[in-house]
Amino acid sequence: MKAVLIRRHGGYEALEIADLPAPAPGPGQAVLQVKFAGLNHLDTFVRRGMPGLKPPLPMIPGSDASGVVAEVGPGVTGLKKGDRVFVSPGYSCGHCAACYAGDDPLCRDYGILGEHANGTDAELVALPAENLMPLPESISFEEGAAFPLVFLTAWRLLVGRAGVTVGDEVLVQAGGSGVGSAAIQIAKLHGARVIATVGSDDKADKVRALGADEAINYRKQDLLEEVRRLTGKRGVDILVDTVGRETWDKALRSLARGGRLVTCGATSGYEAVTDLRYLFSRGLTILGSTMGNRAELLKIAGLVAARRLKPVIDRVLPLEKVAEGHRAMAERTLFGKILLRP
Ligand code: ZN
Repeated sequence: MKAVLIRRHGGYEALEIADLPAPAPGPGQAVLQVKFAGLNHLDTFVRRGMPGLKPPLPMIPGSDASGVVAEVGPGVTGLKKGDRVFVSPGYSCGHCAACYAGDDPLCRDYGILGEHANGTDAELVALPAENLMPLPESISFEEGAAFPLVFLTAWRLLVGRAGVTVGDEVLVQAGGSGVGSAAIQIAKLHGARVIATVGSDDKADKVRALGADEAINYRKQDLLEEVRRLTGKRGVDILVDTVGRETWDKALRSLARGGRLVTCGATSGYEAVTDLRYLFSRGLTILGSTMGNRAELLKIAGLVAARRLKPVIDRVLPLEKVAEGHRAMAERTLFGKILLRP
């Protein structure tokens, strides 16, 4: 079977299309025949390598996928050959205090498919059965591979961490990214007013179509000036940051008194400088967030099935063109998610 394989960290050439033996399901596992796999920024970090990130190479990247169950292993109940499913990208021990509390990502054994174990950029993948969740009929296979990681991330950080509520002013950085396009919709669903930052006028129209009330083109406009203008000099209650270093200082200064900055990524660099005077004198909070739990994922799937949340798909590429997808993510020439079709 064909799969994307990373043998060593590197540029786009590190994405090899390999012919590997078809995986067999172990006890408690099932084999997924992948219809679509979704790309995430995480894949580019796994490819390039990053301090603190130790993927076991060689490894198949990819955290999101949809498809049908091809085979179930011994001891699996509740799944059968032919079932439509999507992949829950995280896994944890299931029996520690964090797992019992629904804080799976805080489990010491927490891992993400495609980062800590072989992922989904393949024709077939063997996974623990609990990582395969039923895909409602009203969600297409394309959408099923586009929503899990980014909507789960955005849900946990906005709802679980920042406590978004009716009337909040929310600034979403990189509104055209996977997490950004999810965060805009989730904030609107909770009654917030949303301002999104984008890198082009074309993307400004697209984030408005997703529900953003305002868009700031960071290439043409000053983030801080625009936020002050749009909020009557008050600032925003919540800022969703995935950009990191490049805009960190202005992001912090964009917050209203008592505001919360939630970070779940740092695509421009992770060593940001914080002026602590702003933090204490304005009563700000910086919150970190990563992934979420299966209960949140089920809730999101229900909202996608009910068409109250909409996965945003930029393009679908054949598996062999995975490098084109990585390049588009690096150059930010995409809106929403890129899918691979094995
Ligand atoms: Zn645990």
